[in-house]
Amino acid sequence: MTQTEISTILNVDDDAAGRYAKSRILKRAGYQVIEAGTGADALRLVKETQPQLVLLDVKLPDINGLDVCRTLKNDPDTKHIMVLQISASYTTTPDRVLGLTSGADTYLTEPVDVTELLATVQALLRLYRREEENRRLLAQLREADRQKDEFLATLAHELRNPLHPIRGAVELLRLKQDLDPELRLSRDVIDQQVSHLARLVDDLLDVARITRDKLELQKQKLSLTDILNSAVEASRTFLQSHGHQASVALPPGTVQLEGDLVRLTQVFVNLLNNAAKYTPEGGKIWVSASVDGERVNVSVKDSGIGIASDELPRLFEKFYQVDSSLERSGSGLGLGLSLTRRLVELHGGTMEARSEGLGKGSEFVVSLPILPQSATAQASEQPGSALNEDTGHWRILIVDDGPRTREMYSMLLRKRGHEVEAAPDGRTGIEAVERFRPDVVLLDVGMPGLNGFDTCTRIRELPAGKEIVCIAVTGWAQDEIQQRVDESGFDGILVKPAGVQEILQLVTQLIEGKQMRPTCVNHAITAEEQASR
Ligand code: ADP
Repeated sequence: MTQTEISTILNVDDDAAGRYAKSRILKRAGYQVIEAGTGADALRLVKETQPQLVLLDVKLPDINGLDVCRTLKNDPDTKHIMVLQISASYTTTPDRVLGLTSGADTYLTEPVDVTELLATVQALLRLYRREEENRRLLAQLREADRQKDEFLATLAHELRNPLHPIRGAVELLRLKQDLDPELRLSRDVIDQQVSHLARLVDDLLDVARITRDKLELQKQKLSLTDILNSAVEASRTFLQSHGHQASVALPPGTVQLEGDLVRLTQVFVNLLNNAAKYTPEGGKIWVSASVDGERVNVSVKDSGIGIASDELPRLFEKFYQVDSSLERSGSGLGLGLSLTRRLVELHGGTMEARSEGLGKGSEFVVSLPILPQSATAQASEQPGSALNEDTGHWRILIVDDGPRTREMYSMLLRKRGHEVEAAPDGRTGIEAVERFRPDVVLLDVGMPGLNGFDTCTRIRELPAGKEIVCIAVTGWAQDEIQQRVDESGFDGILVKPAGVQEILQLVTQLIEGKQMRPTCVNHAITAEEQASR
């Protein structure tokens, strides 16, 4: 394609003779020329003909040439058109400066040498073509990016469909008693891998949603404890499978914030899972929080592989992975941190990554706005009231010969943020007391072998057993067994069936009676605990 084929020049001059002379020169050089004698005509013709260049006289009868230039350069539809400002009247350096600062791409004064005029026109058209090529590439990139987002969203939706029945099949297998060990193993592997796949797909969907501004938060008043507990709970199995020890320390009182529980949980699950992935087996993970004015800073720190300082700024980019080789630790798409930071930002927060270098562990700090006076409100509102999720988190040992009871209550209490262990009989219960050091023991009374009364007596004889809150859990009416309960050293009785709220209310009353301080959540996941599960 030759330049004369594509180059149209609008020649704007109110002086007919001057306009004619310049048009002639340009036409002879092979350009297509259109003409205007006023500013208004010039603006109209630019819109109609989209020339590549406007040769623009400064002095026009209606609109000043500088204003015509400003209008063209401020309009997104015309700002790419080259403007060569030309004047016989305004010829000083300040005039030229004013022309250029009004947006002209160059400024010539008359009389102008023909060769200089043509060389300048050629230079501007070269620039125009280069910019046009850049604009075309940018539009292509934007389109490719849009198609990629659309593809990711469709892919994620499509991948979810087959995951759904697989999950259903696993649930069905779970209902089957006496499953062959090989089948049970296969079921658990499928379950685990489906969960992993679902997480990846969820990340993809979320990123696509965020990119298209489609992610909506369901905000409500939340306590930080709830958020962190649900995150630790969700990551527990993953942390355990890597043999890591995790601990959580929260500031005293209740820290409340306005947010989406699911999304904020996702933030800390991502950070905990990353900490687990990028820390060699048996490492340490610390979660801690501190209130700083109107914000709470939550840190997730690990003793893992660390991050080189030059990588830190890039971590939050979409699809960025420090080590994308096949041998890298962990697996993922490189979306977690970009998604996490975006979710934090949607809550008005900020996020930062720190590391002292490779091999020196990493720390991710999330800073979120908190509700005013949230650190003290809860405690003073309801002194001595029934336990709710915010009053304390305890280590609870369930000793019960019923596996379903152990399983169900462990699950329910963990869901409320407590650390729970379960033992199937009195003897293992006593061992667990020494090792797990619970704050509370829920002790079934009627158990084969060592019954609950005798188990409680033995627990009281242990050095670690004096301060523990021991609760008899029984199907017997209270008045029938009260005396034996007192004699065995129990602090209270729960009559079956007892709901989890009822259990926690009694636990709180008894703990307050013993004046034990509600501890920071401390989900130390020990090797023993892991082994015992
Ligand atoms: P993914 O884990 O899927 O690769 P992320 O966005 O979650 O993606 O993390 C991006 C990269 O940041 C990871 O590939 C890893 O290199 C690095 N990274 C994230 N968390 C940690 C951590 N706790 N310790 C060391 N490196 C980390």
